[in-house]
Amino acid sequence: MTRIGFIGVGTMGLPMAANLVKKGFTVTAYDLNREALKAATAAGMTAAATASEAVVGADIVVTMLPSSPHVEAVYGGDGGVISSARAGTLCIDMSTVDPAVSRRVAGAAAERGLRFVDAPVSGGTPRAIDGTLAIMVGASLEDFQAARPALEAMGANVIHVGPVGSGEVAKLCNNLIAGVAAVAVSEAFRIAEGFGVDPRVVTQVISKSSGNTWVMENMHPVAGLVPKAASTNSYAPGFMTDLMCKDIGLAVDAARNLRIPLFVAPAAQQVYRLASSHGLGRKDFTSVYTFLSPSAGTAPV
Ligand code: NAD
Repeated sequence: MTRIGFIGVGTMGLPMAANLVKKGFTVTAYDLNREALKAATAAGMTAAATASEAVVGADIVVTMLPSSPHVEAVYGGDGGVISSARAGTLCIDMSTVDPAVSRRVAGAAAERGLRFVDAPVSGGTPRAIDGTLAIMVGASLEDFQAARPALEAMGANVIHVGPVGSGEVAKLCNNLIAGVAAVAVSEAFRIAEGFGVDPRVVTQVISKSSGNTWVMENMHPVAGLVPKAASTNSYAPGFMTDLMCKDIGLAVDAARNLRIPLFVAPAAQQVYRLASSHGLGRKDFTSVYTFLSPSAGTAPV
């Protein structure tokens, strides 16, 4: 029976690890947050007191952490994954982070005889719960094949993108598009609302037209139109504004390093940043719609 050490059982990590348990893996979980660990125990996992304890007897380590510094901290240093896991352990980082961080951590892991795979996900909490995430994998072919059974317990579309770091590249490209789309959909529906046109009918029209997007169909920012959307549940995340801000930031930084001009993504990033500074950082990112409410001033003629 494959033993998995799972670090980071938050919004996404918890249902993903629960699916591993359901598919017969033995999971030891660790999280800084005690409430998250309690939920992990209730879902059939063993709770560890430290990251080191979670990975020391593991065949596979899975990490699902907020961002690059968290991943570097959990893998590096005394008591980190790299110094605690046995040689030969397969480490799968499923967090969304800078591809350069994945490559750096993979290098440090290799020095201690560990294998490292980046495998970020798309689909949000509903698909994490259903075990139908899209998973984009950066790995050698051999490590991809070794990671596959665990990844297929969490996702429906497991795609090998290329060598380590490539999964993260695909992920930041995807989230650039999704983040920009959510701002665009929010702006469009504010205009529809301004004209008093029924958003339900506008949604119907757009879903059959060239402006259709996955964000509108599945994560509609207007409450009440899509039952599973965060908007319908007071914008409880789902995917937090601060995380979307981080992901677009990864794309913007990557483009700067590659000397690629970007216009739309930095604008969207500023919208999320402002929304965050107005208290929406820990709400779902589609709450930007509420941030784009009409101003109280007089409309220009
Ligand atoms: P989250 O904040 O809900 O969960 C992260 C968990 O990591 C928390 O429980 C936190 O306590 C824990 N953690 C942080 N530092 C730790 C440490 N040093 N040791 C142990 N545990 C630690 O975030 P999330 O929404 O689950 O997102 C996780 C990752 O998945 C992020 O990179 C995010 O961008 C990505 N992602 C999220 C979604 C989504 O819809 N929420 C979708 C796709 C990808």
